[in-house]
Amino acid sequence: MTTLQSPASGSGDPKASGPTRAAARGQAPPPGVDWPDARWGRGLRAGKSSGSAGAGGRGTMDSRGGGGAGRPGRRWLPPVSFLLWWLLAAPGVRAAGYKTCPTVQPDMLNVHLVAHTHDDVGWLKTVDQYFYGINNDIQHAGVQYILDSVLAALLEDPARRFIYVEMAFFSRWWRQQTNATQDAVRKLVHQGRLEFVNGGWVMNDEAATHYGAIVDQMTLGLRFLEDTFGSDGRPRVAWHIDPFGHSREQASLFAQMAFDGFFLGRIDYQDKQAREKKLDMEQVWRASASLNPPTADLFTGVLPNIYNPPENLCWDVLCADKPVVEDPQSPEYNAKELVSYFLQLASTQGRYYRTNHTMMTMGSDFQYENANMWFKNIDKLIRLVNAQQANGSRVNVLYSTPACYLWELNKAQLTWSVKDDDFFPYADGPHMYWTGYFSSRPALKRYERLSYNFLQVCNQLEALVGPEATKGPYGSGDSAPLNEAMAVLQHHDAVSGTSRQHVANDYARQLSAGWGPCEVLVSNALARLSGSKLDFAFCRELNVSVCPPSRRPAPFQVVIYNPLGRKVDQMVRLPVSEGTFLVKDPNGKTVPSDVLVLPSPPGQEQTSELLFSASAPALGFSIYSVTRIPSRHPKARTQQYDPKKSNRQVLAIENEFIQATFDPDTGLLMGIRNKEQNLVLPMSQGFFWYQASTGDKESSQASGAYIFRPERPQPLPVSRWAQVRLVKTALVQEVHQNFSAWCSQVVRLYPGQRHLELEWTVGPIPVQDDWGKEVISRFDTPLKTEGQFFTDSNGREVLRRSRNYRPTWRLNQTEPVAGNYYPVNTRIYITDGDVQLTVLTDRSQGGSSLRDGSLELMVHRRLLADDERGVGEALLESESGQWVRGRHLVLLDSARNAAAGHRLLAEREVLAPQLVLALGRGVPYRPGTAPRTQFSGLLRELPPSVHLLTLAHWGPGMLLLRLEHQFAVGEDSGRNLSSSVTLNLQDLFSAFTITRLQETTLAANQPLASTSRLKWTPNTGPVSYAAPSKLDPTSVTLQPMEIRTFVASVQWKEFS
Ligand SMILES: [Zn+2]
Repeated sequence: MTTLQSPASGSGDPKASGPTRAAARGQAPPPGVDWPDARWGRGLRAGKSSGSAGAGGRGTMDSRGGGGAGRPGRRWLPPVSFLLWWLLAAPGVRAAGYKTCPTVQPDMLNVHLVAHTHDDVGWLKTVDQYFYGINNDIQHAGVQYILDSVLAALLEDPARRFIYVEMAFFSRWWRQQTNATQDAVRKLVHQGRLEFVNGGWVMNDEAATHYGAIVDQMTLGLRFLEDTFGSDGRPRVAWHIDPFGHSREQASLFAQMAFDGFFLGRIDYQDKQAREKKLDMEQVWRASASLNPPTADLFTGVLPNIYNPPENLCWDVLCADKPVVEDPQSPEYNAKELVSYFLQLASTQGRYYRTNHTMMTMGSDFQYENANMWFKNIDKLIRLVNAQQANGSRVNVLYSTPACYLWELNKAQLTWSVKDDDFFPYADGPHMYWTGYFSSRPALKRYERLSYNFLQVCNQLEALVGPEATKGPYGSGDSAPLNEAMAVLQHHDAVSGTSRQHVANDYARQLSAGWGPCEVLVSNALARLSGSKLDFAFCRELNVSVCPPSRRPAPFQVVIYNPLGRKVDQMVRLPVSEGTFLVKDPNGKTVPSDVLVLPSPPGQEQTSELLFSASAPALGFSIYSVTRIPSRHPKARTQQYDPKKSNRQVLAIENEFIQATFDPDTGLLMGIRNKEQNLVLPMSQGFFWYQASTGDKESSQASGAYIFRPERPQPLPVSRWAQVRLVKTALVQEVHQNFSAWCSQVVRLYPGQRHLELEWTVGPIPVQDDWGKEVISRFDTPLKTEGQFFTDSNGREVLRRSRNYRPTWRLNQTEPVAGNYYPVNTRIYITDGDVQLTVLTDRSQGGSSLRDGSLELMVHRRLLADDERGVGEALLESESGQWVRGRHLVLLDSARNAAAGHRLLAEREVLAPQLVLALGRGVPYRPGTAPRTQFSGLLRELPPSVHLLTLAHWGPGMLLLRLEHQFAVGEDSGRNLSSSVTLNLQDLFSAFTITRLQETTLAANQPLASTSRLKWTPNTGPVSYAAPSKLDPTSVTLQPMEIRTFVASVQWKEFS
């Protein structure tokens, strides 16, 4: 919990001695650069949009302030190349990226050597430890030295090339360089000798990530490149060489970011064998079932050796392979042998690919700290191998890059097979399914999702209020640190839960540090919009009923901010001290409220919670006031039922839409009825645990942070029955189930709610019996589901899963549980065609349906062994993270109505209303301004099929706007929500007027109109490449699942 006091903290931030916004605005363009006009963001806001500052939020002092002495870790960029693509990316001019590619030999096998380093943004060491090369006893790795060393090696020989991927590291290094070094790097980038690949802030995980956060982190990284290098630095190729399985949505997003191709490292070992045989290592991935091809088509290649160099050819300081020895007099002479080995290797590898080109990744984790070792040996290898051409060799080896390799494939003009499923789950051996990390570190996974929610609130308020949000009565507010922390969290060892414990703690620290400046921003914005400076208080621990301000006896106000484009109703629940309360809505009308005295374990203090039903308008807020009335006893109404002494009376909770019944003998949920649609589904829901394998005679593989391997396929129940208490008031009905000392659940219904809420609490998972445990919540129903179930892909489109089956190869199922687990980011469902049971999650989890009619989600895991994938620690989570609370939202619907329910509910769950408490009465924001208790940023609500994905600051007077159709083709037949929808953007927002609108690619790094992607021919028939139609801001149409991205110049309106 943090509080922000308006008058006391004053208006000035003592640290803010750096360049002001005015200074940034007033900066003259560099000589020779003509500003096209101001529409694309002339000048940038200090420190932010320039992709600044991994350091910004973390307070490091490594800024050299690209143009002035900024405050620590901040700077504004000279926007030199910021607008270059306006000049270079005009239609008809091919952007840099291919024209600098090396020449190849058309009638030979061309081996493209790609010199690269894979720099994890945290894993065994923290981000800062990796950057600076600290804790080298854990792992020898120092990114700053890698970049120094590569730069020197590239300058030595113009033939050499290198690629770089992770902008979280590169941008930090860049800021520490002299002008001369930066110029040298710009030249290398322009010449194609240093190529940026992927270009996200991190190489994000694909299983535990939400699409909104993926888009944000890619936008941040690509923005840095665009600002720094213009179109020269724009990556053409997406590069996910290490993530542990690949989602279809990721490919769709990359396609919409205008990438020309995508390369992967890890796919299932059986899949890879089949592909090598069928020459399907490279395909066109049709990554959306809704978007018209080729919108989500992405050429995708599987690398031959994950991302490692071929055996015996690792010439890094971290490797032990023999360098090339050319001197025949030396007893170590090996050149001849090496050349024939290489020629053999090249032709073997080349056989699995369809063109006369093949790629070898020359590098690995944190390599090239002594780049000379690598480059010197590759130089020799290239010279020696190509010298054999004089003797008839048909192998040509060259320094290349993924983009240049892709360019050759494209020129081959072949017809490619099409993939339309995904690459989950990933296994690298028969008992080695990487499906544990879908659920690892559930507390961190929730914190990440909650931070996504808060970041969007922060971004929106910054956009609605304009400059006064960042400089206001509470000091300097800033969304950049949380934006950067969230980007870091998307890394494939961060939100995946596969880092070491101290690194996971550091990820949480980065998020926490990011929340602070956003809380300041939100306070500034709320004061501005409400016209009243209040003492705002943020309760970060409301999920566990901790919020000291609401427990004080003094009156307080509750600001409910709604980040959705439609009004929401929300049951507000706040911990209070005992008493009776008077709650008034924004119009001063009393609203019904209730105080619940919650059941608590014997010996613990009882908690009271105040409940009242509130609502908040679209993209806006309502302010409710709460006053404690002395006297009278609180209305405590809880009943306890002990199933053992049951009188066999069925327990039930219900509202106008749903009834849930509980077995009087066991206390378990036994049925749900949808009263509106007249559906009844008997079911049993309970908690079970898989005994984690520590290896057996079949395989030594243990369950660990990455890998899920249960000892036996049947999980054990946590308890066969639950001790039950019933809570019923006018505002809520709850059944509290206690399964064991470490596992409990509240099943809850509020009035007006069409879903059942299951709030589970699990942990600390006991392991004194020396068994690691993987805990699931399982729903068993009589639905005839014929081996099928459905899971979402990064929270967006939904994929059909079939038990013990893969769509593109004949599966030999060796792990009947782990081999059927899939990532669930927001939802999983089962259906018999008529009735659908959907469970929404509040974070990413692993899930499956292992028997017909059954559905399970892994909520927590605690393990005693390491799974030998490098992390070197058991997933014990002894401190924070061992005790986890979360929610499953359960929907029972007819199949035809189901999408309308789960799409809109998932949207609400991901972007939930933000509560801010305000103590005291406050003072006017400006003398004479009247307080405002309600505000909406929209002139009219968005239709239900439209999701406001992004509304954020982009530059001075500029906003980034993304609108999304959140239904798939044919998904909703009941309410016609799958139809296309047209909006008038000119007349949508109340807080500002859009003076100019530019449509861009998904990551906003290039205007859509001048974007050109390489064209590929799929074997399913030709696709038509339609030119983007002219943008009319008054009539913007969204097709099912379409996301449209805009940069808008705006003028904020004055509020009275
Ligand atoms: Zn990695």
